[in-house]
Amino acid sequence: MTYRSNNRPTWAVIDLDSLAFNFHSCKDFIGNGIKVMAVVKADAYGHGAVECSKRLEAEGVDWFGVAIPEEGIELRQAGVTVPILCLGGFWAGQEAILLDNDLTPVIFQIEQAKILSAVASKRGVIVDIHVKVDTGMGRIGVRFDELLEFVEGLKTFTNLNIDGVMSHFAVADDLEQNDFTQLQQTRLDEAVATFRENGFAPKWIDMANSPGAIAHPESRGNMVRLGGILYGLGGDVLPQRINKPALKPVLALYTQIAHIKRVAAGESLGYGRTFLTERDSVIATLPIGYHDGYRRSLSNRGRVIVNGNFAPVVGRISMDWTIVDVTDVPTAKVGDKVTLIGDTGERRITVEEIGAELGTISYEITCGINGRVPKRFYNSGD
Ligand SMILES: *Cc1c(COP(=O)(O)O)cnc(C)c1O
Repeated sequence: MTYRSNNRPTWAVIDLDSLAFNFHSCKDFIGNGIKVMAVVKADAYGHGAVECSKRLEAEGVDWFGVAIPEEGIELRQAGVTVPILCLGGFWAGQEAILLDNDLTPVIFQIEQAKILSAVASKRGVIVDIHVKVDTGMGRIGVRFDELLEFVEGLKTFTNLNIDGVMSHFAVADDLEQNDFTQLQQTRLDEAVATFRENGFAPKWIDMANSPGAIAHPESRGNMVRLGGILYGLGGDVLPQRINKPALKPVLALYTQIAHIKRVAAGESLGYGRTFLTERDSVIATLPIGYHDGYRRSLSNRGRVIVNGNFAPVVGRISMDWTIVDVTDVPTAKVGDKVTLIGDTGERRITVEEIGAELGTISYEITCGINGRVPKRFYNSGD
């Protein structure tokens, strides 16, 4: 889509002041001079990577984490200057763009190290890398029990600097599985020792994601990698009943009533005719659908806020439209603002509760709000 209207009557509001609040709240909670990498992959979990990163950079963040080099380039082109780690490494052929854009890759295969060192050598530069160790997540990383061979292999590459050693928790959010979290921690400690015994001096040791950083202080190393809690999504990613920093939601999602009509009892609404009116009803149609991230699985389950009252989603959510029953909101009319996620003062709908309703996590909901939904950034400094 080449033409995007910022005036579309379906929009997200990103409160950058709340983002900054969460950053400082987490940083104060973690304390001890521990550095913070803000994870802004996936367009900052759907919140807008460029604007969020610019604000976090102004607030003093130490690093950014992205999933793929393309996301790092977007930040560099927007003028971000702090170090950027590509958490998912890079694909063969992307070595030059890493160097061109000063992006630090995560490495977990010896071939990646070899080719990157060769490209750096041709340019006469030394390139920083962070080595990912798989201590139990089972996704990417050099397996902890195969690390020694890998570390010995690294010694042959002249143009690499091992700037960091990292790993990633699998269940830091579940305190009942603390044994496994502890096991991962021990394996990372051993991995770091292996690097040091082999003459490497990694500057950064990092393991903790949001639940790690908050629930497992011993896992903080000298940097934590925070994603969800910066966006205020602590309600489902942090364990219950622990001490935690104050967090504010950052994203709200709104639309406006596009059409309104009276429907007699006994009529069907929407695809599949999954809803039949039980009473004479007033039905409003909203210009938001599952392409915008308002998930189809909320059909006949979700609810929105219209003029201070909840109104249930009725019938199937389609790609571009959602139907709600406003019979009990007599003031509802075309053009009224509708809150799908947010706090109106009288009522609120959190991302966490939508995630729970759908059997998923808040991250999947915010990540689904895509580019067709214009974002309005609220910045009290503006
Ligand atoms: C996404 C990600 C994070 C951030 O996780 P949160 O739970 O959002 O804090 C940290 N580290 C890595 C490697 C990640 O992929």
